[in-house]
Amino acid sequence: MNKPLAARPEVQPLTASSEHQPPAAQPAHELPAARPERLRNDRRVSGPSLKDRILYLPRMSAGAARCMSAAMRGYGINAHPLPPSDARTLEYGGRFTSGEECYPEVLILGDVMKVVLDSGEPAGRLAFFMPAAPGPCRYGQYAPFLRRTLDAVGATEVMVLSPSSGSGYEELGQVDPGIHRAAWRGLLASDGLRRTLLRVRPYETSPGAADEAYEDGIAAVVALLERSGIPTRQALGDLRTALDTSAARFAAIPRSTEERLLIGVVGEIYCRLNTFSNDELIRSLERLGGEAWLSDIGEWVFYTNIEQRRKWIPYAGKRFSLRMAKARIKDAVQRRDEHALLAPFHDLLHDRAEPKHISIVTDLAEPYLPAEGVYGEMVLNAGKAAWLWSQGCDGIIDISPFTCMNGIVCEAIYPKMSRDHDGIPIRTFYFDGTASHVDRDLGIFLELAGSYKKRKRQPQN
Ligand code: SF4
Repeated sequence: MNKPLAARPEVQPLTASSEHQPPAAQPAHELPAARPERLRNDRRVSGPSLKDRILYLPRMSAGAARCMSAAMRGYGINAHPLPPSDARTLEYGGRFTSGEECYPEVLILGDVMKVVLDSGEPAGRLAFFMPAAPGPCRYGQYAPFLRRTLDAVGATEVMVLSPSSGSGYEELGQVDPGIHRAAWRGLLASDGLRRTLLRVRPYETSPGAADEAYEDGIAAVVALLERSGIPTRQALGDLRTALDTSAARFAAIPRSTEERLLIGVVGEIYCRLNTFSNDELIRSLERLGGEAWLSDIGEWVFYTNIEQRRKWIPYAGKRFSLRMAKARIKDAVQRRDEHALLAPFHDLLHDRAEPKHISIVTDLAEPYLPAEGVYGEMVLNAGKAAWLWSQGCDGIIDISPFTCMNGIVCEAIYPKMSRDHDGIPIRTFYFDGTASHVDRDLGIFLELAGSYKKRKRQPQN
């Protein structure tokens, strides 16, 4: 597909404005002075420490960013999601990139530069959270590129914090051991609420009811997570109670029994979850008669856990070590939280259950992308596509940024995967910020999915 890259727009000279007012600093409880410094992998910056800055998180999924920011506020970090993307985001993203970068990087950079250049906040008051990942794709370059761009505009005192998936994001725990778990719980809660939203919204008979229940659910979780000093057991219980209430609210929404096409949605994690980047593809899909079964964020965390352990085996020279035992315990604790926080949605999601273990997904990917040779989202996407087929989906959509390496590899193997899986239609939708024809392309895809639904054999689960 030879889609032209976005033209790089000229932008106005960069001056401070009051377009975006950053939130006021919140009282922070004491953090050990040196600890937060180890979170970042870029060069040392002068100026205030993390607790005296506003920390912005990428808005990969708005709900998850809100919940994770709240969890950090609970530990004394004045964290907030980046402001929503808009035309200014695209202007700045285009101005500070060359055209070679991935679309999520253009958007994140544009969102960051809006805060740095338009908010009027001194550089020494700002910090940005930019996780990294090892492996072959360009994600590992996001943080260094952000650092370079900030330095180029003279914002040398801005801090960039960059924990890595290669370590299972363990650096987060360096601020306070509890923050890792609180952030994880926030992420789980937002995953559960999003999954339920997508299960209920296509069938609601009162438009807007599911979105409202979702927004209120996120707000309730945020209010609980941003409290500080709550014992971990009580914090979990409170979250569970809030999610029970949310689930009951979703369950009470009147719904039609119409039959819809069930479409599995995989793809690059930022683009598939960030509705600005994918032109609200899922809403369009629902409008055209589909229901989306979207891969969530938690699966990536579980994937990094098993990959972390797999990579340690050759170095340790054995299958067990203290480090690996600790990683297993972390995985088990995360599973326990997942079980507790997703249980309220069980009835609503009983026919949209995720795989019990992430190895089910990686095993399904193995014939196409063997774990010994391949790492990253392409493995999850291939395995998840096969899983979604086994669960009775009528089609699979992969949402990827244009030129995404993971997307390109997956697009190359999807024809074979389709042949191996009863001919289920699988299509990649690319996004790069230029005008797309989502409705038209979705319409064609749903025709194919509809034909497949009529002729498909019994799912293999
Ligand atoms: S997954 Fe794709 S879009 Fe994301 S950083 Fe890697 S190559 Fe870029």
